[in-house]
Amino acid sequence: MLSRKAGARRSSRTVFGAAEQRSLHRATELAEDLTGKFYCIPGREWPRYPCEIRTLAEGPGPEAPAFADVVRMVPGPEAARQDGLGQLFRIRLRDDAILEAVERRGDGVELFPLLLYIVTHELVHVVRFGSGFAPYRAAEHRRWQEEERVHAITRGVLRPVADASVRKVIELYGDEPAIPALPDCASSK
Ligand SMILES: [Zn+2]
Repeated sequence: MLSRKAGARRSSRTVFGAAEQRSLHRATELAEDLTGKFYCIPGREWPRYPCEIRTLAEGPGPEAPAFADVVRMVPGPEAARQDGLGQLFRIRLRDDAILEAVERRGDGVELFPLLLYIVTHELVHVVRFGSGFAPYRAAEHRRWQEEERVHAITRGVLRPVADASVRKVIELYGDEPAIPALPDCASSK
């Protein structure tokens, strides 16, 4: 989970338009590629970490001021499997918080590197939950430790593309404390 800075002014827009959706698509492709290389996950093994990305126009997001979070979708009883496979993680983005951060031009944060950081951060959570490195449900203090670890890993994943615009995001948000709230959601599938 990742949050915007407190005190950022409200954006006049609340959901991504077509241009932002295109940036999100590009950021997601790059984030998957970099995360896969970092963890040496061949393309054929990505299905072990099934996840989907939803913006506010597609469903509820995390509570403000979070940029994004990951929720585990619980399969219906008929689809539940003992081995945990079949679980689905949903990355939920908060368009309005992201737009606010970008429109606050003073700190120089741009949309694409911010989306790249956010999606990479959440994908690292997904890989760690999916592989069992991190328990999805953990005591509060363990969640804070996990957040710090995920921030550090995210910086490592992004190192190959860390130009000035990515470094700016890392500088501002790369160790932002967030309150990890990880609800289970009933899957619609
Ligand atoms: Zn996080």
